[in-house]
Parts: sequence; C-alpha cells; structure tokens
Amino acid sequence: MNTETGTYDVSPVVSVPELGKDHKYHVFISYSSGDSVWVSNLIHILEKTFPTVKICFHERDFVPGKTIIDNMIECIQSSQKTVMVLSPDFVRSRWCLFEANLSLFQDCITHKDIVPIMLKPCQLPLHLCHLTYLETDDEQFFHKLSQVLFSNNDQVAHSLIHYQSSLLYSGKTLLTLTAVNEESESWQPGVFSSTPVPDSLRAVVDNPQTYKQAIEIINDVRPPTSCIRFTACRVIICVFCVLLTMFGIVLSAAIGITSQYIQVCPRVLLALPLGIAAAICVPTIFIKTVCWNKQKAKTIIQAMKKKACQANLLLNNSSLLVGTSSKSQLFFVYVKLSDCKKTFQTVFGCVLSKNMWEKSISTYSSDYACCLAKKHFPFNSTEPPGHLKDGICFCQYVAAQMKND
Ligand SMILES: [Zn+2]
Repeated sequence: MNTETGTYDVSPVVSVPELGKDHKYHVFISYSSGDSVWVSNLIHILEKTFPTVKICFHERDFVPGKTIIDNMIECIQSSQKTVMVLSPDFVRSRWCLFEANLSLFQDCITHKDIVPIMLKPCQLPLHLCHLTYLETDDEQFFHKLSQVLFSNNDQVAHSLIHYQSSLLYSGKTLLTLTAVNEESESWQPGVFSSTPVPDSLRAVVDNPQTYKQAIEIINDVRPPTSCIRFTACRVIICVFCVLLTMFGIVLSAAIGITSQYIQVCPRVLLALPLGIAAAICVPTIFIKTVCWNKQKAKTIIQAMKKKACQANLLLNNSSLLVGTSSKSQLFFVYVKLSDCKKTFQTVFGCVLSKNMWEKSISTYSSDYACCLAKKHFPFNSTEPPGHLKDGICFCQYVAAQMKND
C-alpha cells in the first residue's frame, strides 16, 4: 500500500470497465454492520484507487421503506459483481436471512458473480461451501480483489488468481454419508447413493464420474448367501445342536454306568468318543450359529474397508479420501497428499514409490480417513512435524502402522 496517497499499487492492466445498460453499479458489497469500519476503509481505498468505480452498499444505497431482502436483491441485480465480507457477524445476521429466503436468493445468486472475502474465520452454511474466497491477510489481496472485480468471468478463469478454496484445509471432514439402507440387518453391506455428487464435495470432485465409480466400488460388497442369515434356519440348527449334545452326554453317561457291570465290548469303544466329540463340537457350532450376525457384520465391515481403500486409489488424485468403520457410514476427508507422495519418492526411489504408494493407499487409507474424521489416532505423533497441520499425515500414519504390523 502506498501510505502517502492512501491507495494500493495495482497492476496497470486493471481498469474499471464501463457499466452495461442493466447495471447501475460495478460492485455491491454485502457485509454485517459489525464489520463496517473495515468495509468503509475498503470502499474508501477502492474509490480513491479507481475514481470511476460505482460501489453500492446498504448504508448509502438501500431504499428506505423496502424490506432488506428486496433491497439486497435489487442491489445484487443492478451490480456487476457482489462482494460478501464474511465474518462470524455476517454469518449470524445475513445467512439467517439468506437461508430463510433461499428460494428467492438462489436464482439471484447463481446468475451473479459472487466474490467472497474472508475477513474473520467463520463457518459457512453447507450450500455455500463450494464458493472460493479471498483472504484479507494475503499480501496480494487488493491486487487480486481488483483483478476479480474488474474482469469478466472468462478473464478471471484464465487469470493467475488463485482463490483460497472456501474453508478447505487439509484434514477437513467434508461429508459423512449415510447408507440408503441404514435400517437393514447388521450383516447387510451398506449401499450408498452414487449420484449426484453431494454439495459439500463439489469443490473437490471435478469429475462426477470418478465419484460415481468410487461409490460403485464400495457398493460392490456382496451380501452373504448362506441360509444361516434366516433366523428360522438358525433356530432349527440350534435346537438340533442342543438335542445332539444332550444325546451325546446321556449316551456317554449310560455307557459309563453299564460298563461297570458289563464287560467292555467294541460297541462301547465306538460310542464313547462319539459322545465326547458331540459334547465338544456341537456346542461350538451352537455358539457360532447364535453369534453369526455379529461375525458376519464384522466381515462385511472389513470387506467394505477394503473397497473404500480401492475407491481411494481413484479419489486420492482429487485430494479426497473415503473411510468407513461401520457398514452404514462413509467419511469423506479432504487431505492434501502431494507432500506425503514426495516423501514416498525420497524413501523408496522413483520406481518403487508408485507401487508402495498404491499399496499404502489400498491398505491404510480407509482407516486413516476414519482417524482424521474422528480426530483420533491410535498413537501420538512423536516424529518431527509431518505434512499435516495439527495432525498426523498419511506418510507418518503408514510408517507407524507398518512398524506395528
Ligand atoms: Zn506426510
């Protein structure tokens, strides 16, 4: 910033375009009154740096007598772009309005260029999480802002501006997806909807086909075809087992009594081991049959974990990992893996690292995603800091798990 003139030095290529006939303003700034000091300073700098710019903001331009919503819609429609100054105050006051009138706003907002500025960190509602924002502590903030404000959409798309992706940070849980057959029997694998891509993943998943493929891999776990899955079948087997055990015990006892009086004959030698075998094996089968549901549920979760790891072979290219620790929920976590990948290359060399990377993803990625989602790791990080701020990065996790195994 040039302190003498109170203006920012901006690239000479940035110039204020002429207003079209549909527009009264270049930009409408939506903000909460709690942030008005910062905003009026920004407006002041913008007007000083670009003397021809027309800025609309509520303190000056809202028409008295109209509702806030009507005023806002009108201002958004008559401005080329809309800047939203995001802060906890803004979220509390404006989002409530937006949400209440979302149907009204949706059309208005989707056909307009929204430029969000993150003034103070805050949680955005889900339907707006796909927006990318500018950060005020960025050294290039004013330059980026003016470039976005005064360029048309195509220019913005091709310019060198990289927004910070809205509230995306490595290790963030983006979504907990619930199975469509959540209420089904415990041994039935979870089935998840593969289309459309959920809103909260849109910022990360660029190709809906990849997402669909990944979900289809997870949905591919086969349910057991065993007849024991029917309760009636299990009851019959259990009754049969109980009877057989009782018969075995009674038979052995009877033989024991009679053998005191009668000389041991070959028939007894045969019946005794049979009775003992029945007394041991049959209760085992009985217990296994009773516990079948639980055992099968465990096997299904294991199979689903394996499939989630396979799905991650596709998803990790978009910095996304999916994990499951139950049959009815999937956790999607955004995690930047490029630095961990580089570590693999350093450790294993160029040729081996690709193989090791895929092996690690297809073995550990589901559990790792669950740990990130639940913010709990089975061990503490003792290593020097890894590639994840506030947590254990994938290469650290794999190294620790390999040591344990
Ligand atoms: Zn790492």
